[in-house]
Amino acid sequence: MQTLFPIYIRNSYLQTAGVCQLKYFRESIQHLSNDTKSHHLVAGGIFAAGVEIVRKSYFNKNLTIEESVEFGQEHILTAEDTGDSLKSNERLANVLGKYFHKYPLDRTIKPCLLADGTHAIEYRFMFDLGIPHPDIPGQNLIWQGTLDGLYEKTLASGQTKRYIVDEKTCSSLLRLSGTKIVDIEKECNAFRTNSQFLGYSKAARLLGIKTDGLLIYKIPILTKHEDAVELSIPFTEYEIDLWYNKFISDLNELVEKYKFYKSKECNPAEVFKPVFNGSLCNSWGTPCQFMSGCLSKDGEAILASSFQQIVNASSDNIGIPLDEYKLSLGVS
Ligand code: SF4
Repeated sequence: MQTLFPIYIRNSYLQTAGVCQLKYFRESIQHLSNDTKSHHLVAGGIFAAGVEIVRKSYFNKNLTIEESVEFGQEHILTAEDTGDSLKSNERLANVLGKYFHKYPLDRTIKPCLLADGTHAIEYRFMFDLGIPHPDIPGQNLIWQGTLDGLYEKTLASGQTKRYIVDEKTCSSLLRLSGTKIVDIEKECNAFRTNSQFLGYSKAARLLGIKTDGLLIYKIPILTKHEDAVELSIPFTEYEIDLWYNKFISDLNELVEKYKFYKSKECNPAEVFKPVFNGSLCNSWGTPCQFMSGCLSKDGEAILASSFQQIVNASSDNIGIPLDEYKLSLGVS
C-alpha cells in the first residue's frame, strides 16, 4: 500500500501513536479510511457544533439567549442521525437547552475578545514545527488544531481568570462512594494530564495568550436528566513545557521510524509496533477497525481490500484519494 507522512499534525495523531504505533501508521501514514462511524463520536461532534452555534449567535451576532439556544437546538435536530437511542438528536437538543439554563450565557464564562472584534470560540491554529517532512522536500511539518474556546471567568474574589473551555458529553459520572454525589476530585484527575488540553495550553501561549487552566463542563446524557458539572483544572508551566517537549520528541521519533520503514520496505508491524493489549485494542466495546490486519500474515492485503486510502489533505479536512493527493504534490 502507498504511504505519506501527514503534513498537518494533530495532537490526536500522537495520542494514537502513544497507544499503538501500528494504529497510528494505519490511520495517519497509510490513511486507511472506511465509512464506519462511532455513534458516540457522531453525537459528541453534533453536540459540540450546537454549543458553538449558540455561543457564536450570542457573542458574535448579538442574538438573544433564547434565539441563540434555539439555533443550536435546530442544528442538532437537523444534523445527521446519531443512530443512538440514548444520545438521539432529540435528547441532545433537550440536554443543550438544559445546559445553557444551568450555565446561562450572560452569567458564567465570557469568550476572550480577539483583535478582529470576534470572540475566541473555535479558534483554529497552525504552527510550523521546523521539522522537515520525510516525503516532501522543502516542506516542514505543521502543527494544526482548533481551540474550542478561550474564556474569561470572574471569580467570587473579583479576580478574572482565563481558561481553555471544553464541553464533554458522557454516559456516566464518578460518584463519592455509596452516594449519588459527583466525585469532583476524581473527575478532575481524569483531565490533569490530558494531552489534548495541555496541547491547547501550549498553543495559546504560542499565540501570546497565557491561560490559568482548563474548565471542563461534563454533560451527562443519562436516561434520567442530571445537570452538567463544572471541573476546574490548573496546568503548571512545567507541565505544559514537559508536554510540548514530549510532543516534539515523539514526532521526531515517528519521522525517523518512517524513514527507516521506507528504506527497508518491510512489514510495517516490524517498525511500528502493535500494542496487542485486549482493552487498548477495543474502544466503547468495539474492536479496533484494523484488527484483521494484526491477526494475519496477509494483513496488508486484507486491509487493502477493505479500506480506501483517503487523506484529509488540507486544514479544511477535505478527503482526497491518497494517490491523487501525492500526484498533486509531485511525490512518488
Ligand atoms: S488491533 Fe490493537 S495492535 Fe492492532 S492496530 Fe489496532 S490497536 Fe494496534
